Amino acid sequence: MREAVAFVLLSFAAAGCGAPDRSLPERIVVFGVDAADPEVVAALRARGELPNFDRLLEAGFAADLLADEPLFSPRIWTSIFTGFGPEAHGIESFTLPVGSEGKRVPVTSNLIRRRTVWDILGESGITVGVVGHWVTWPARPVNGFLLTNYTWPPTEEYEKEWSPGAEWDTIGMRTFPEGIDGEAVDAAREKRFFKTADFPNADRLDPALRHYLEKDLAYLNAAFALFDERKPRFFTFYLEATDFFPHKLWMFHRYYETERFGGSMEGLPAPLAPPPRAVVDTFGPMVAETYRLADRALGLVLERVDLERDAVLVVSDHGFRTYPPGTILHVGDDRWTEMPFWHGERGILFAGGGPFRRGTLEEPVRPEDVAAIVLAAAGLPLGADMDGTVPEGVFRADFLRDHPVRFVESWEKGALGDEAPIESPFDERMLEKLRSLGYVH
Ligand SMILES: [Zn+2]
Repeated sequence: MREAVAFVLLSFAAAGCGAPDRSLPERIVVFGVDAADPEVVAALRARGELPNFDRLLEAGFAADLLADEPLFSPRIWTSIFTGFGPEAHGIESFTLPVGSEGKRVPVTSNLIRRRTVWDILGESGITVGVVGHWVTWPARPVNGFLLTNYTWPPTEEYEKEWSPGAEWDTIGMRTFPEGIDGEAVDAAREKRFFKTADFPNADRLDPALRHYLEKDLAYLNAAFALFDERKPRFFTFYLEATDFFPHKLWMFHRYYETERFGGSMEGLPAPLAPPPRAVVDTFGPMVAETYRLADRALGLVLERVDLERDAVLVVSDHGFRTYPPGTILHVGDDRWTEMPFWHGERGILFAGGGPFRRGTLEEPVRPEDVAAIVLAAAGLPLGADMDGTVPEGVFRADFLRDHPVRFVESWEKGALGDEAPIESPFDERMLEKLRSLGYVH
């Protein structure tokens, strides 16, 4: 509790620091699109299927994002949002053993040893909204709102996930402030911004994929309801479908794309017989459909910001690709196996708006650079102890003249991070999901 009180005092102090600077973005939005792959994006943009990605990139730059192996989502997203590598922030994998029997539990926010970019922005008087990101449960206090990745944990019946009083309501700290998800339940239930029916053939999906699509739609609908209601200056939200759909449907995606648009099936294992036409036609377009969903979400962001002034970033933790036969990949905790398709090493960073230079960055950025770029875009100094930096070519010359990259010794405030994750009643279902994606045994 003492921490929360100190936090409130600090944010008041920082908020009193004078009039807003018009040369800084009024709003900074970071849209996390898991596994968004630069080649898939390029193919879809070439066909005019991602108009909002086009709009963003006309107002900024594209870069590849390269993480170190292993390409595990929780460790990379934590780097993206802390500005530190995994050795420093402490999230290395999907699960950790607890207790004498070594039962494995999904990693939880209490393990993170560094402060997040929304902690730092919030302390500096900037209101924040954070929705659905990895390793955010249990919720820590923020200067705004936070829906953790356990806001609506998996339940048997996904339709009930966002009903008040449902099974998920049994764990605490799903959100900050406690209960704020209630404000977004109507938007999730009525599917205010994103409808299942907008996703072609959603009714043909197997229960697991359908479940996770509905989960994503619930978070997206909640995210925009709260964004409109609370108007945070820093807003970040997350889409997972772009990861789990390729895990299940990449083969059909490649068949469909190759047949329709040309290209090569090279590297894909030859099946005994080609998949039936009806299957390819139904499931083949779905990976691309998740990118079109991301594009629609980006469109809603662009309707709500002023790209002349504001800053919008779309970032992925890694890509997705085909691997040559015989490639052994590190796919989870202590799991190495041969995979014909899996996470690719190239992710994306697309950034558009007032502070950013137009064009393409020659050099790839590192995940931890994203936090540094966000702090600099907000006119705040970086921690000199951070692993992330502001790469050459990110900001416009006039922005840098008014807001040169500055440093403080550190944004850290003493030791953070427990040794063991926190157990929840949903661990088994979370593990089931990780298992279905091949990340754990
Ligand atoms: Zn990922």
